[in-house]
Amino acid sequence: MNLAELTWPDVDALSRDTPVIFPIAALEQHGRHMPVFTDSLLMGEIARRTETALGARALFAPLQWLGNSHHHMDFPGTIDIHSDHLLNFVLDVTRSVAHHGFERILIADGHGSNMPILDMVARRTILETKAMCGCFIWPSLAAETINRVRESSTPGGMAHACELETSVYLYLDSQRVQME
Ligand SMILES: [Zn+2]
Repeated sequence: MNLAELTWPDVDALSRDTPVIFPIAALEQHGRHMPVFTDSLLMGEIARRTETALGARALFAPLQWLGNSHHHMDFPGTIDIHSDHLLNFVLDVTRSVAHHGFERILIADGHGSNMPILDMVARRTILETKAMCGCFIWPSLAAETINRVRESSTPGGMAHACELETSVYLYLDSQRVQME
């Protein structure tokens, strides 16, 4: 289910043990070959397809595209949200969800540098509300497959604007990746 498409009575009718999933990513440089919206495009599409697959079993919030990207600010186009703001912002989101009685919140991340902050948000949500809360970054769901099919050597080749992100972007929208 997509929260953006529901009325408040629709939400009110849901079982409070329905998991609420909050996808978040970033808007930052992704090399010379991919758009700055890469993390958000990938995370948004993964969330959209998972929402379709799960149907009524989970409630997805709209993607939040701002992330912690201060280390990319040398590159025009990057938009950074300060780590303090990100922590309090996402905590406000999880507090809101918990306020409505939902007991299980999952933050789905598409940008590595958000993770330490989101981990703190999840811990504080558990301590400060009645909800359980966790976070994960999407490649962790496919780590075994990624390691099996990767072509770049280890270490390297798989961290940012890399083999993984370029491959997923090519799969979703090959027109926007500048292969030359
Ligand atoms: Zn990325």
